[in-house]
Amino acid sequence: MGRSGLTATTLGALALSIATAFAAEDTHWGYEGAQGPEHWAALGEAYQACGAGTQQSPVDIAGTIEAELPEISLAWKPGAGSIVNNGHTIQVNVPGGSQLRRGDASYELLQVHFHAPSEHLVAGKAFPMEAHFVHRDAASGELGVLGVFLVPGGENAAFSELAAAFPQKPGEEATIEAFDPKALVPAELDYWTYAGSLTTPPCSETVTWMLAAEPVAVAAGDIARFSDLYPANARPAQPSNRRFILGPAVPATPQIVDVVLTDAGGRRFDLIREVRSLTGHSVRKSTALIDAAPRLLKGELPRDEAEAIKARLEGFGATVELK
Ligand SMILES: [Zn+2]
Repeated sequence: MGRSGLTATTLGALALSIATAFAAEDTHWGYEGAQGPEHWAALGEAYQACGAGTQQSPVDIAGTIEAELPEISLAWKPGAGSIVNNGHTIQVNVPGGSQLRRGDASYELLQVHFHAPSEHLVAGKAFPMEAHFVHRDAASGELGVLGVFLVPGGENAAFSELAAAFPQKPGEEATIEAFDPKALVPAELDYWTYAGSLTTPPCSETVTWMLAAEPVAVAAGDIARFSDLYPANARPAQPSNRRFILGPAVPATPQIVDVVLTDAGGRRFDLIREVRSLTGHSVRKSTALIDAAPRLLKGELPRDEAEAIKARLEGFGATVELK
C-alpha cells in the first residue's frame, strides 16, 4: 500500500497540503506536453509515486466484485466556503465539521474540486465531469475521496451557483455564501470502492476511493462553464494491478442502446432493462426512472419532464427518441 512507510507527521502534512491544495504558484505540473501526466514522476523527487506506484488512481471501474459494502452516511453541513481557481482545477474549501462515515471509519470533509472529463472510467467510458469530495480520517490520517460523476441534463441549483462564481483566472478566489455539498450527491449512494492514490502529484497512495455508481445531472451550460476554464484536467486511467474493486456489477462493455419511447405495453420492460444495464443498478435502486417509465411511454409526461429523463438516460450512454 505504501502507507506503512509514512509517519503520522508526513500524513498530517500531506492532508494539510491537500486542504490548502495546490497553490496557484505550483504550476510545474499540468495535463499536457512536458508537464503532462506521463512526465509527473520526473518533475520532482516528491512525485516518484506517480511513476513507480502500483496503486495509482484513477482506474477503469470494470471487473468489480459484488460485495455487501458498509453504508456511507453523510453528515455534511451547508455553509459558507471559499472557491479557488488554483491553476489545476476549481476547488471549494469548506469549513470543518462535515463528516462522512463508512463502517467504522469517519472522515472529515476538507474540500470539493472538479475534473473534466471524468478521471475514473466505467467499463471504459468517461463521463463529462467528476466531482471529488476530499476527506481525511482524523484517526489514521488517511484520505477518503468520494467521487461523483456529473452528466448534463438537469438543473442543479447548487452547482449553478458554484459555476456562476467560478474564479476565471488561476490564483483568484471568491467567497460562496451558502454551499450545500449534499446537493451534488445522488439520492441512492451505491458505490464502488478500491485502494488508490491522489490523481495529482505527489500521487500518494493513501486514498480509499468511493465512487458513486449513479451520476448526478447538472445543467449542460454549467459543465461548459467549467470546461471553458479546464477543458482537460483528468489524469488517464492507471493500471489496476489486480486490485479489488468492490461494488455493483458493471457491464463488460459500454452500453450504447436505443430506447425508443414510441409505444406502450412491452416497451416498459425494455426501458427497465436498459436502465439496469446502463447504471449497473438493481431495478429497486432506479426507482425514480422506473416510476416515470410507464407515463413516459404513454406520452403522459410533460415535455420538460420527458426531456429531463431523456437527458438522464443519455447521461448513461443511451440514445433516446421522444415521440
Ligand atoms: Zn480530484
